[in-house]
Amino acid sequence: MSKLLQSHAVRLTEAVKKTIKGPVSSDPVAKQYIPQDEELHILPVERRDPIGDDTHTPVKGIVHRYPDRVLFKVANVCAVYCRYCFRKEMIGPGTKTLSQNEIETALGYIRSHSDIWEVILTGGDPLILSPRQLSAIIDNLCAIEHVQVVRIHTRVPIADPERVTEELCKTLTRDKAVYVALHINHAQEITPEVKTALKRLQKAGCILLSQSVLLQGVNDNANTLEDLFRKLTALGVKPYYLHHPDLAPGTSHFRGSIKKGQRIMKELLGRLSGIAQPAYMLDIPDGYGKVPLTPCYLNEIDGEAYIVEDYQGCQHHYPPKD
Ligand SMILES: *Cc1c(COP(=O)(O)O)cnc(C)c1O
Ligand code: SF4
Repeated sequence: MSKLLQSHAVRLTEAVKKTIKGPVSSDPVAKQYIPQDEELHILPVERRDPIGDDTHTPVKGIVHRYPDRVLFKVANVCAVYCRYCFRKEMIGPGTKTLSQNEIETALGYIRSHSDIWEVILTGGDPLILSPRQLSAIIDNLCAIEHVQVVRIHTRVPIADPERVTEELCKTLTRDKAVYVALHINHAQEITPEVKTALKRLQKAGCILLSQSVLLQGVNDNANTLEDLFRKLTALGVKPYYLHHPDLAPGTSHFRGSIKKGQRIMKELLGRLSGIAQPAYMLDIPDGYGKVPLTPCYLNEIDGEAYIVEDYQGCQHHYPPKD
């Protein structure tokens, strides 16, 4: 296993350990963090930079793929290391964090591009930064007139809820909108401590979203996802994206077929409230961006009318325009 540990560190928090209820062969939380032998099996289609961050990096720490928003990778470490991580080759203890100069350059890039309407803090995990460091970055972003929205992608409230202190939350109370997208894959990860952390973020005025990865053996069935999305929605967290896993090295044991993912999404439609449904997304390899993998419900017949399928699988005619 030492080869494994070199390429992607193993790190679990006490909070995560408490949510593990069985061996890695069967426990949905253990599988996310404890390496399995399959991790050594690297497929030819898998790559170091699966979603092409590098090709869209104008200055260190910034990924600018879409005109109106950028990723700003403010941290290179995480509270825990997920085995299926899409940036596993770019983060972790062996990688370099941004220097103060590099942070200034990245902020300068955002300042000088007036198309940038939203800045997404990511990493690594931005909530690993001290409240002081995080506050300084958000102060700078909020002072830029064209930046209207700040979004933070994080696993900390789930994996290390004690880090979500009042002091940290205070840095997130802003006049501009602050969205926090939580990374969570299974209802077993929602503990009383996690609920407290979410309440604190909400009290600070953050709007909470969730993103999950569709992981074989962890959450790849409608019942597990329904339970997760219901519990999140009831806690005031809007399920945003369900990601198809990216082609990161040694992650094939987590990837099922897109067809299966679409079947699960079809099962959830109708059975689960619309506000609890995320979009099922694929990040096209090599940097072409994200697209929804929504199952098709509409078929055109002879270029005139449509056949539309309802949530129970029955087909209906829908008239052409005139
Ligand atoms: C995922 C991603 C975003 C955010 O995409 P949304 O669809 O707005 O959530 C932005 N920039 C890059 C480079 C991304 O990979
Ligand atoms: S928290 Fe996110 S960036 Fe960190 S290891 Fe997990 S998936 Fe990767």
